[in-house]
Order: sequence, then C-alpha cells, then structure tokens
Amino acid sequence: MAVTDILASHVLAFILCVLLIGLLVGSFLNVLIYRLPAMMQRDWREQAREILELPAEPQTATFNLILPSSTCPHCAHEIKPWENIPLISYLFLRGKCSSCKAPISLRYPLVELTCGLLSAFIAWHFGFTWQAGAMLLLTWGLLAMSLIDVDHQLLPDSLVLPLLWLGLIANSFGLFTNLENALWGAIAGYLSLWSVYWLFKLVTGKEGMGYGDFKLLAMLGAWGGWQVLPLTILLSSLVGAVLGLIMLRLRNAETSTPIPFGPYLAIAGWIALLWGEQITSSYLQIAGF
Ligand SMILES: [Zn+2]
Repeated sequence: MAVTDILASHVLAFILCVLLIGLLVGSFLNVLIYRLPAMMQRDWREQAREILELPAEPQTATFNLILPSSTCPHCAHEIKPWENIPLISYLFLRGKCSSCKAPISLRYPLVELTCGLLSAFIAWHFGFTWQAGAMLLLTWGLLAMSLIDVDHQLLPDSLVLPLLWLGLIANSFGLFTNLENALWGAIAGYLSLWSVYWLFKLVTGKEGMGYGDFKLLAMLGAWGGWQVLPLTILLSSLVGAVLGLIMLRLRNAETSTPIPFGPYLAIAGWIALLWGEQITSSYLQIAGF
C-alpha cells in the first residue's frame, strides 16, 4: 500500500502526520515572522539610498530566511538542531538558553503549538483532500502575516499576493467556490475596504487602515468568493471591537498606538471560509427568514 493510500484510509494517521508537519512549519514561521520584516526594511533602505543618490551602505553580512543560523539574542550562542525541535526543545531546556540561561520567549512554542493544532484541525475538517492541502497553506500564511502585522503594522505583499493568486488557481479547479465568485470576491474585497478608507479619510482627514488590509480582504475573497465578504467584515469588526476594548483597558488608553486590523480580518476570514454557510443560514433562521 502506498503512503498516500494509508493516509487516505486512516484518518487518525493523516491528522497526526499533519500535526507534526504543522509543528515544524510553526518553527519555520517563527523565523519568517522575525526575519521577513527585517529583510524588507533592509531592502527599502537600499532603495531609498539609490533614489537619493547616496553611496550604498557598506556590504553587510548575508541575511535571509536561511542564513545566518539562529542564535540566542542575549549571548549569540548558535542554536543547535536538537535545541530547535518544536515544543520539545523548549520544554527540555525549560524555556532557557542552554548557554547563558536567558529566558526564551514563550511566544516561540506558542506559535508552534497554534500552528500544529490549526493544521491538525484542517486535516480533521477536510480529510485527505486537495482542499486540506490548499487550506493548510492559507492557514500558515494567515498566521504569519497576522503576527507580522501585530509586530510591525505591516502586511507583506510577498505573503498576501501569492496567496491571492493561489486562491484564484485553487478555485479554477472549483476547490472552494467557482472561479467567477472568486474573481468578484477579490475585486469586491479590495474595493469595499478601499471605499471605506477614502470615505473615512475625506470625513475625518485620518487614515483608518492600510492598503495591506484591502489586499488581505481581496485575498480572502479570492479563496471563498464574494459570498464570504459580508460575514468576514462583520466578524472582524466584532472581534476587533471586543479585543480592541480589552487592549485599551489593559494598556490604559494608549490611543496613539495603532491597532492593526489585519489579524482580525485573518481570523474572521478563516472562520467565514470554514463555517460561512452554516453561520449565515442559522442567522437567517433565527432572524425568521
Ligand atoms: Zn544565550
């Protein structure tokens, strides 16, 4: 029996397999979340110097997603492969650097665990299908861009745009909806937030959100079709209002710090993609339609 046959016929084996892959991907996402914004900033600085006709910065060491290898931020101790096993290494090292004993942020194992659990859930929800494969890529992408947005108020085009295309390609095979719905989902997703942005700017003179948010909603529309957009916007505003209020209380009304909208859109869009039809139909039922 081929491996694919085993995974297709044994649901539990498939879910466990995806859980392990999810943990490993989570470990990579930690690197991506930390390094991608730094790489973009380097790029922008270089471009700015070119435009301003300033001499190029002296050649600096290679810095990409693979090199240099990860080190402890406190003592620069190089992290060995056995110290880099998702979750297990953190527990084994009791959350401390093996060299200088400085505490390792709890965020790293949490991202790994979240990624593993979300991946396992997708495997359980969709089974051994193409939908599961596509949805895993989307979930990993949404997790990475949400955390980058929280850290830097930035949604990298290099993550959002390839996923937008991938959504259209997936739906050219009718994975989640038909291509026509997906196309109009992308267009309406972009234009709806774009109009809110300009309306808000004309009325208040302030910028309420960034262009990254329009692209993210366009991407979600490309995956679920225009039908997921109303629920996504509704849910993201709800989640945003609730979490925003909690955070304002916690941070003692530091109103000047911008609260990124991207993570709320990502969470809401993910929910709408998975349960959109059920949520909408049960809502309509309660409302008496
Ligand atoms: Zn250290």
